[in-house]
Amino acid sequence: MNFEDMVKRRLEALHREGRYRVFADLKRRRGCFPVADYFATEGPREVTVWCSNDYLSMAQHPAVLAAMHEAIDVAGAGSGGTRNISGTTRYHVELESELADLHGKEAALLFTSAYVANDATLSTLVALVPGTVVFSDEKNHASMIEGIRRGRGEKQIFRHNDVADLEAKLKKFPKGTPKIIAFESVYSMDGHIAPLAEVCDLAEKYGAMTYLDEVHAVGLYGPRGGGIAERDGVMHRIDVINGTLAKGFGVMGGYIAGSRTLCDAIRSFAPGFIFTTSLPPAIAAGALASIRHLKSSTIERARHQERVRTLKSALHARRLPVMDNPSHIVPVVVGCPVHCKAVTDALLHRHGIYVQPINYPTVPKGTERMRLTPSPVHTDEQMACLVHALEQLWAACPVPNGTYARLAAE
Ligand code: PLP
Repeated sequence: MNFEDMVKRRLEALHREGRYRVFADLKRRRGCFPVADYFATEGPREVTVWCSNDYLSMAQHPAVLAAMHEAIDVAGAGSGGTRNISGTTRYHVELESELADLHGKEAALLFTSAYVANDATLSTLVALVPGTVVFSDEKNHASMIEGIRRGRGEKQIFRHNDVADLEAKLKKFPKGTPKIIAFESVYSMDGHIAPLAEVCDLAEKYGAMTYLDEVHAVGLYGPRGGGIAERDGVMHRIDVINGTLAKGFGVMGGYIAGSRTLCDAIRSFAPGFIFTTSLPPAIAAGALASIRHLKSSTIERARHQERVRTLKSALHARRLPVMDNPSHIVPVVVGCPVHCKAVTDALLHRHGIYVQPINYPTVPKGTERMRLTPSPVHTDEQMACLVHALEQLWAACPVPNGTYARLAAE
């Protein structure tokens, strides 16, 4: 068997479908977000980034940078080991305690990413409690799907944010069956927000544990940046909260927060936690500074929401196909991978605006889109350039509106 030929054919299929991924080669400029250098073949060019998950620009915050510099000076580069074998430092311990406090939980546990946190926690929970049934929202992130799959328990998929469908599925199982409801607060591609309180009501009624991915909400929502569960006053009703340190907090790493016993069980049994080197001290120090800052400062969150509102209304005013939602995500639907790539290429090469096209499997086929993420530091001028460029591109080459009309009506 010729593996080279076989994998080449698979790559050719991606090219044919127009969804071959081309990474933009960027260098961010310290303190200048959203401006970055884009390394084109003819040399670096300045671009404005409109698709970063550094939602609050915390990756450039002076307090975060200072903490990281200081940690390198004090502790060096790497942690030196797994958490069990010399890789638990003061920075890790303090960060876990800060995260537990942020979410009002007894404990928290760090992972190298939120992907690993979801995968390791869900697979381990299901494996530890035989007979567990996981009720999973149909739009859950790949990391949760993978964790549930690897746990080898039974899975029931409920319709996206549909509590009636969730209840119909919960009802089918005896009260004594161990159950986990796994869902997200902010769904990052459509920007939908889950009805947290209603899901918690059902969890209580049917004796289920709640597992909530707040990856796209931590730092951004709630009086202290604790996420949608904090904003909605239901944090105490969620059993396990999963979050990232890489988006709202601007650094890297993931975590869960929950009861002392649950965190201890994951710490003790999850291979994805046990058999890997812990985060470098400087990363933990930067994340700690970011969380501490956002716990007390609300300026970033307020300005972020204002920028989002302003961009959404500017796009609406020009009748551009922005998908309505109640969150900070601004999806502009194109509905075809080839067309989506053409629009984003034109934005990059003609207008110096970088937006990555989002294709299948990240979103369903036929709903390919641009996912705009305004931050507190995107200026009015940068916003006007983006809206003007999109308006020009749509006028020159209108996107068939069927897809958008269907999505907007859903
Ligand atoms: N959960 C959701 C909903 C996500 O969208 C992502 C990443 O985008 C993750 C988890 C993984 O987060 P991380 O980048 O920290 O691995």
